[in-house]
Amino acid sequence: MSTSPQPLRIAVIGAGVAGAACAASLQRAGMRVTQFDKSRGLGGRMATRRVSWTDARGASQSAEFDHGAQFFSARHPRFRALMTRLQAVGCVAPWRPQVHAAFPAPSLRPGFVAMPSMPALCRHLLTGVSVQLGASVQRLQRGSDGWQVVLAGGEATGPFDQVMLAMPPAQAAVLLAGHHDGWADALAAVRMDPCWTLMAVTDDADWPWDAAEPAKGPLAWVMRNDRKPGRSAPPGSATWVAHASAAWSSAHLEDDPADVAEALGAALKALLPWNAALQWQHRSVHRWRYAVPAAALADGRECWWDGDLRLGVCGDFLGGGGVEAAWRSGDELADNVTAWLEAEEEAAVQPA
Ligand SMILES: Cc1cc2nc3c(=O)[nH]c(=O)nc-3n(C[C@H](O)[C@H](O)[C@H](O)COP(=O)(O)OP(=O)(O)OC[C@H]3O[C@@H](n4cnc5c(N)ncnc54)[C@H](O)[C@@H]3O)c2cc1C
Repeated sequence: MSTSPQPLRIAVIGAGVAGAACAASLQRAGMRVTQFDKSRGLGGRMATRRVSWTDARGASQSAEFDHGAQFFSARHPRFRALMTRLQAVGCVAPWRPQVHAAFPAPSLRPGFVAMPSMPALCRHLLTGVSVQLGASVQRLQRGSDGWQVVLAGGEATGPFDQVMLAMPPAQAAVLLAGHHDGWADALAAVRMDPCWTLMAVTDDADWPWDAAEPAKGPLAWVMRNDRKPGRSAPPGSATWVAHASAAWSSAHLEDDPADVAEALGAALKALLPWNAALQWQHRSVHRWRYAVPAAALADGRECWWDGDLRLGVCGDFLGGGGVEAAWRSGDELADNVTAWLEAEEEAAVQPA
């Protein structure tokens, strides 16, 4: 009969990069992780969407757009080391965009993209982890045997020894209320900026640039999607992703999507060497209600862990925003948990 202890059961809620980093590390440390996400796919705001349209000749066409995060930095040695390993297996690639001469992009640095689409990073990290998609967590219940995760529809799953929340702050605040009101209040006060994103297809032309950061007008960022590594567009087409600024997105948050597509399309057209021979092939928009943290949280910690409650919180808003910050936060939370467990085990074997 085996005498080895049962692995700890961990629920990680949210399968964006923070949750994926946390889950991957805890699973490697020997814990039994179940990951929940309300979406149909992994990656959260590291998102890629396929859209279809009918071209001028009546043929069906489709293309993919990275409509959330465009690319990411890798400054921290641990994240850099991960990127080196993932580059070797083709899961990420460096991206060095050509910048618009008329619109220098001061905040643009060479970075990485996941391959062949942004969710691929989380898919890779979560290899071997049990994932439940389409699982919207409505409530957490704490009992004598641990945590129950209650899904939309009322189904309870568990028990889990520990729960990690890896989602935007407003959504985490709802699940924390009644369990850790201090954290719930702090998260409810975190402001996230929204972002309207245009996904557009034009006829191809010899554009002299792949990325621009316009200083004026509604658009904050414009990227030529099909020139990123591993991406493509239908022959004779160019695909574009254009993010509106936080100020413009806030002012137009409840506008009709058709009006937003018109306004952002006009702004993109003004940046392109447009002429009578060029046509739109497709335009659509996506609204991110919680796109990026408006400011870093003041407490300076990269994650939160409460060993008494066996409850943790991670996400980009704890690290100052962005993919790398989200990964750091999730990885750091897993480190906190394993360090806490080691301390608990050590205390348990100390003579009284
Ligand atoms: C338009 C846009 C552009 C961006 N551009 C860049 C960029 O160029 N570079 C960069 O580094 N970063 C960029 N970012 C930011 C980057 O995408 C995020 O910082 C990072 O992806 C956040 O990861 P996360 O895991 O913290 O959260 P998320 O990716 O938001 O993951 C949270 C997950 O939790 C799930 N969830 C939420 N509530 C529940 C629930 N109740 N039950 C179950 N699941 C739930 C969600 O479905 C989601 O999958 C951009 C973001 C946006 C929106």
